[in-house]
Amino acid sequence: MNYLTAKYLLGAAKLAQLPPDEGIEVAFAGRSNAGKSSALNTLTQQKSLARTSKTPGRTQLINVFTLDEDRRLIDLPGYGYAKVPEAMKLQWQEELSRYLQQRQCLRGLVLLMDIRHFLKDSDQDMLAWAAEVGLPVHCLLSKADKLKQGAKSKAVLQCKKAVKELHPTATVQAFSSLKREGLDQLYKILDGWYES
Ligand code: GDP
Repeated sequence: MNYLTAKYLLGAAKLAQLPPDEGIEVAFAGRSNAGKSSALNTLTQQKSLARTSKTPGRTQLINVFTLDEDRRLIDLPGYGYAKVPEAMKLQWQEELSRYLQQRQCLRGLVLLMDIRHFLKDSDQDMLAWAAEVGLPVHCLLSKADKLKQGAKSKAVLQCKKAVKELHPTATVQAFSSLKREGLDQLYKILDGWYES
């Protein structure tokens, strides 16, 4: 698959505004600030495909990028930001769970988590929702450049163990957009989903 040709298609404020539920989608999700936009930019080698500085609390959008006629990348709104009003948080939680559980063309979810703070409550929710419907998940432990090799390996192992409890088939890897570390491993997982 060629990820370098990704193009912005639309921003959907509601699930109803998404393109028809056809073809293949892979979604990226994570808490705000987890490094999701940076990972999408690194993956597609486009500096500002997904904007890396966003205003927390603004109207949240599901951003849709096309890879080719049948394949799309989905950038789900960052969750867990403390300053967002409770009612809005709940509403987005419902939208996210509905997207994960009802979208037929969704083949996989990439879950971004800071390697130093993984599996917060909201990440656990995402994994549990995905597990309920048998949706494959690949966890990217982001900002891996922040840890030394030993601590990094330990974090990956710890995370693998904890993730298994919530989603038995989910996979985990260390990733750094800054150092472009873990990119080949990520491409392999995505190729598997897009070409299945
Ligand atoms: P998002 O809110 O999940 O889209 O997160 P961003 O991609 O905007 O990143 C949040 C912050 O983490 C920004 O200050 C980024 O520069 C930083 N960041 C993202 N990826 C990395 C990485 O691989 N290494 C380091 N050191 N910082 C990163």
